Amino acid sequence: MARIRWDIVCKPKVKGRAGVQILKLKIKLYWLNGVGHLQMKKRRYGERPLWDREKERCKILADRLIGTILISDNEDRLCWSNDKLGVFLVKKCSELLILEDESDINFDCSKVWNIKVPPRVRSFLWMLAIDRISTKDFLAKRGVNLQHLSIVCPWCEKVPECVPHLFFKCRFIERFWANIFSWWDTKWKRVDGVVDFFALCYNAKIKVSKKRLWLISCAAACWTIWIARNGLVFEGRRVKMENLVFQTKIRALLWIRSAHNELMIQEKFWWFAPQRCRVVSHKLNSTVSFWRPPLYGWLKFNVCGVAKEDKAGCGGILRDLEGMARGIFSGAVGTNVAEEAEIETVKIVLKVFESTS
Ligand SMILES: [Zn+2]
Repeated sequence: MARIRWDIVCKPKVKGRAGVQILKLKIKLYWLNGVGHLQMKKRRYGERPLWDREKERCKILADRLIGTILISDNEDRLCWSNDKLGVFLVKKCSELLILEDESDINFDCSKVWNIKVPPRVRSFLWMLAIDRISTKDFLAKRGVNLQHLSIVCPWCEKVPECVPHLFFKCRFIERFWANIFSWWDTKWKRVDGVVDFFALCYNAKIKVSKKRLWLISCAAACWTIWIARNGLVFEGRRVKMENLVFQTKIRALLWIRSAHNELMIQEKFWWFAPQRCRVVSHKLNSTVSFWRPPLYGWLKFNVCGVAKEDKAGCGGILRDLEGMARGIFSGAVGTNVAEEAEIETVKIVLKVFESTS
């Protein structure tokens, strides 16, 4: 089942589309001695007889030309009626297509395409923006038999699962967003849908120098929701709120590391107050401590155990030489003393390492 019409893919990003160039517009078809020729720019790459519909168009053209007196001194050439000089321009043609298109959404998708996240996540965000995510509601409306699947939202099991509810309006997800926004020391506000949501993200009070990191975090949160939703719908895996938030943080950090190789981020602030993170370029000579890769042939486990009042938790990440995450974990520990939480965390790490080696 095609989820997106081809013409939507081919419209410009500023009009909420994917901005794929329409290649066929760059191909010239002309007729010489009853044989059709296909030409791309100046290089001729093939010949074939005309199709019936092309013959039909040639006949219409011939009918229009009958009675026209040719000026023998002027050489024949192709003229495009939309240009004063008769010259065909792809740019001009694209502009005309934009003017013709009345079905645009009120959202500039170039913003989404510019976020530095993995390409499949960018495509996912775009599909989210134009409401093409295959939620149960989306599939049911297109006649897909969901068989044993219930159509309701997997978080609350009350409302039909559609994009605005699943990603933004469900009470469980609203709590998740409140967590993500408060992690960045900014305020979550109820939104009606995707356009509203992106406006909230772009206008959030985040320091200019951190804005791109913030947007990556928002993208990571959306992607984490979708991954968790799929795990719950298809495998019955329910993710706790703290794990959902942790997965978002770790995902965003890994994407930032991979997209902004030149930046170093203070990890100790990243987990709790990213607005306070010092972000510096490798080029600057700084004494601030950052994560360093392990020696060749080694793996590095960074762990943390925290206790606050009557709650304690831990988390850790195992990374290789390139900084790639090989394993992550997080959860509660049965103590409310910070030092004990740290020790419990190290014990968990040793068990994780034992089970992987
Ligand atoms: Zn719900």
